[in-house]
Amino acid sequence: MKKKIIVQKFGGSSVANVDRIKAVAKRIVERKTARNHIVVVVSALGDTTDELEKLAFQITKTPPEREMDMLMSTGEQISCSLLAMAIKKLGKAAISFTGKQVGIKTDKSHTKARIETINGKCIRKAFDENKIVIVAGYQGVTDDNDITTLGRGGSDLTAVALAQALNADVCEIYTDVKGIYTTDPRIVKEAKKIKTITFDEMLEMASLGAQIMQARSIEVAKRFNIPIHVRSSFSKEEGTMIVKQSQKLEEISIQGVTSSKSDAKITICAVPNQTGIAAKIFSEISKADVNVDIIVQNVSHTKHTDISFTVPKSDFTKAMKAANIIAKRIKAGNVTQDKDIARVSIVGSGMRSHHGIAAKMFEALAKNKVNIDMISTSEISISCIINSKQADKAVKALHTAFQLGK
Ligand code: ADP
Ligand code: ASP
Ligand code: MG
Repeated sequence: MKKKIIVQKFGGSSVANVDRIKAVAKRIVERKTARNHIVVVVSALGDTTDELEKLAFQITKTPPEREMDMLMSTGEQISCSLLAMAIKKLGKAAISFTGKQVGIKTDKSHTKARIETINGKCIRKAFDENKIVIVAGYQGVTDDNDITTLGRGGSDLTAVALAQALNADVCEIYTDVKGIYTTDPRIVKEAKKIKTITFDEMLEMASLGAQIMQARSIEVAKRFNIPIHVRSSFSKEEGTMIVKQSQKLEEISIQGVTSSKSDAKITICAVPNQTGIAAKIFSEISKADVNVDIIVQNVSHTKHTDISFTVPKSDFTKAMKAANIIAKRIKAGNVTQDKDIARVSIVGSGMRSHHGIAAKMFEALAKNKVNIDMISTSEISISCIINSKQADKAVKALHTAFQLGK
C-alpha cells in the first residue's frame, strides 16, 4: 500500500527552547505510523534570525547579501539538528538535512531567492529507511553552490514547495496561534479563528501585512492547489484550512483586517502639470529597482501638482535618491518624506458582490478620528494609508464595524 506523505512545518516560537523542541518531537513521533512518511520543516529557534541580522548590522550598515545569507541560514541548521536528536531520543529514526542537501535549487537573488527545482533524492532514500526527515527551512542553494535564503518567513515556502515536490497528502503549518484569525489576535482580543479561507483571500491578507503566513508560500499553494492546514503547535484543536474555494453558498463580505508598517511615503511637490511627466518620474524610480505601491496625483487647476507614492521602507534610501534626481530634472519643487505611515486594509472575496463596503470602512475610520491620507483598492481588498500611531486603533475600529468578532 502506498504510504501517505505528511509535510509539517514548525515556526520559530514552536521551537523557541529545548523544552519546546522536545514537545514538538513528541508530537511528531505520535503522528508517525507504519502507513505514513513524515517530513518536518523547521524555522530557527525563537528570535534567532532577528538576532543574527542585528549582529550583521553592528558590523556594517550595508552587509553584502551573499554573506547575509550565509549568516541568516545558520539558525535553521541549529533547530533541525536538535529536533532530529530529540526524535531519536524518543526511539524513532530521524535525519536532518539542510536546504542544499535536499536539493532546493534557487536563483541567485540573495535574501529573497526563488526556488527553481527540488530534487528531494535524499528524502526519498530516508523514506525507504523509514526515517522521519527534518529539513532546515528558509534556505536553498544556487548552481554556483552559494547558500541563499527565501525571504523572511521563508520556512512556510520551504514547506509548501516540498509538499508540491513530494506530492504530499497533507501540508500542516504549526504556529503559536490556533489558526488564521479575523485580525492579528495580538492587536484585537476579540479576533475570531476563521474555519476556511481561500488562497486569494489569504494571499491578499498576507501581502497586506498578516504575518501568519509568508505571501510567497500562498502563491505556490494556489498555483499547485495545495490545501494548507494552519494550526497550533500547543493544542490539538483543528485550525484553519486554506483552500481553493470556500464551501459556503455565498461569500462572506469581509474575512479579515490587516495592518502593516513596512512602507514609507514620498511626495514630489510642485510637479509641472504636463503630459508625460508621470512616466518620467516613475521610470526613474523603477530604474532604481524600487517597487512603487500606491500612487496619488491630484488633479490640478494650476500649472503644478503634487505626486505622492509609497515604497517599501527597505527601498526608501534608493527611492529618495531617485526622486531627488528626477525632481531636479523636471524642475519640480521639494521632495518630502513620511516614514510614520501605516496601511490598514479589509479583505474579502464577497466585496465583489456587496456594495457600500468602502463607505462603511471610511465611516468607521472617521468616527474614530482617523484621518485617511491615501486609498487603494483591489478586487478583494480596500486599503487606507493613515498615521502609524493610529494603526491599532484603526484595526480595532474596522474589526468592530464589520462585526468580525461575532
Ligand atoms: P511562526 O514563528 O510560527 O512562523 P509567525 O510569528 O511568523 O509564526 O506568525 C504567527 C503570528 O502572526 C501570530 O503570533 C500572530 O500574532 C500574527 N498574526 C498576524 N495576523 C494574524 C492573523 N490574521 N491571524 C493569526 N495570526 C496573525
Ligand atoms: N527564520 C526565518 C525568519 O525568521 C524563516 C522563518 O521563520 O520562516 O524569517
Ligand atoms: Mg512565520
